[in-house]
Amino acid sequence: MTQEELFKKLVAHCKEYGFIFPSSEIYDGLSAVYDYGQQGVELKNNIKRYWWESMTRLHDNIVGIDSAIFMHPKIWEASGHVGAFNDPLIDNRDSKKRYRADVLIEDFIAKQEEKIAKEVEKAKKRFGDAFDEAKFLETNARVADYRAKRDMAHDRMVDALNRNDLEELRQIILDCEIVCPISGTRNWTEVRQFNLMFETKMGSVSEGANTIYLRPETAQGIFVNFLNVQKTGRMKIPFGIAQIGKAFRNEIVARQFIFRMREFEQMEMQFFVRPGEELEWFKKWKETRMKWHRALGFGDEHYRFHDHEKLAHYANAATDVEYEFPFGFKEVEGIHSRTDFDLGNHQKFSGKKIQYFDTETGESYVPYVIETSIGVDRMVLQVLSASYEEQQLENGETRVVMHFPPALAPVKAAVLPLVKKDGLPEVAREILHQLKFDFNVQYDEKDSIGKRYRRQDAIGTPFCITVDHQTLEDRTVTVRYRDSMEQKRVAISELSSMIGAEVGFRKLFDQLIG
Ligand code: ATP
Repeated sequence: MTQEELFKKLVAHCKEYGFIFPSSEIYDGLSAVYDYGQQGVELKNNIKRYWWESMTRLHDNIVGIDSAIFMHPKIWEASGHVGAFNDPLIDNRDSKKRYRADVLIEDFIAKQEEKIAKEVEKAKKRFGDAFDEAKFLETNARVADYRAKRDMAHDRMVDALNRNDLEELRQIILDCEIVCPISGTRNWTEVRQFNLMFETKMGSVSEGANTIYLRPETAQGIFVNFLNVQKTGRMKIPFGIAQIGKAFRNEIVARQFIFRMREFEQMEMQFFVRPGEELEWFKKWKETRMKWHRALGFGDEHYRFHDHEKLAHYANAATDVEYEFPFGFKEVEGIHSRTDFDLGNHQKFSGKKIQYFDTETGESYVPYVIETSIGVDRMVLQVLSASYEEQQLENGETRVVMHFPPALAPVKAAVLPLVKKDGLPEVAREILHQLKFDFNVQYDEKDSIGKRYRRQDAIGTPFCITVDHQTLEDRTVTVRYRDSMEQKRVAISELSSMIGAEVGFRKLFDQLIG
């Protein structure tokens, strides 16, 4: 199965088992907007909890807030979003499709890399054990050609983006002979800038409408509350403010399911530090955040950093945490050293002093900021892609199993009476009531036990608890483990502590502080 097929199957699985539905489906959907179903919302809430508690509980100098989506429109002037939150767009005149110019060039660069990898594969087969990959990469003429194209496109693009040179972006597309994936032609328009913020009106129009924006990031809600939190919480630098909330971007290239949406959720933390100490903190936060990702146990080799060469207008260092999705390594989280840009600009635009008096140094200053910013939905997609497996069983059957880390699994345990009679459902319901105050548990008595196990595997339930006739005699049940499919006899009285030890966040948190 190719990675593309695998991804298609995952998307279908998400719909079939109530994780994610296209928005407004009965009206043919709304592009790049999705709804979470009964399993999806549980998974998403668990991811948010993992992030929120690792920030606010494991750090005694980080607190949370929840700011409004609507904010004073001047905020977006101060933050630079009105002037500079743009994507360079280009249209193909034949297909009438619109693309992000930089994404077209990035796809071209990725294609050159794929071609190099293919040459290596071919040569490996041809030369067998005698193959020297390093030498081959150095000397093969075709590889040299692909590399030259890749580097040319990359260097010119970085330079054009840094200089905001739209004509040059178009020229690179022409020089690389990039065609529209739909029409196959090179009939391109000029490149134009397009602002990503959604606008709406506040108040009734007759009263004099006021244009406001749906926030494109949650961070500004933290910056404008910096003094409120610092003063009321008597916070001492270094300290952080965390927030989870919706953000909206009028994305043009919306694709890859919930990877890029127009309405999505972010988990952002702004960490305020002394000027001059920001790069040291940037390094620390890179390590801390990578640990958080890796603790989930999906394999360290699937994560990497991608340090930015083109820095946003507010940053003096930036990196992405990338995960290897079925469609390649892609950003899940951004970590940015935002300098004093935001607080400094809010001070300027609002006319209010936003400074911190440092009792240790006796100085007042505008703090510098390290930001960690992760998309909840992108993280959901990461966990879904990492967890999905189609397994061939020894008896010839297949099963789809979601290997969610137990702490993130939507349902923690399913209670299943072996048959629908002989008093077994009553005992199963008794167990359900015993567990449901602590865990999200399900009761299922329909179909054969095998089918019920498959249904729980498909939603990633770590434990299936089967009540059988022996239960009536000795108050024990069979516990079946999702990943190994092993079964164990356990006393009903031990279920709660056994499940609790596995599905709690403690196991993850231990890795973060260890
Ligand atoms: P990209 O380069 O993918 O557009 P970005 O660099 O603009 O992302 P940031 O502004 O740094 O993204 O946002 C931080 C995080 O928010 C990203 O790492 C991503 O997880 C998430 N995110 C950003 N845009 C979207 C979107 N349209 N849909 C879903 N998640 C998003």
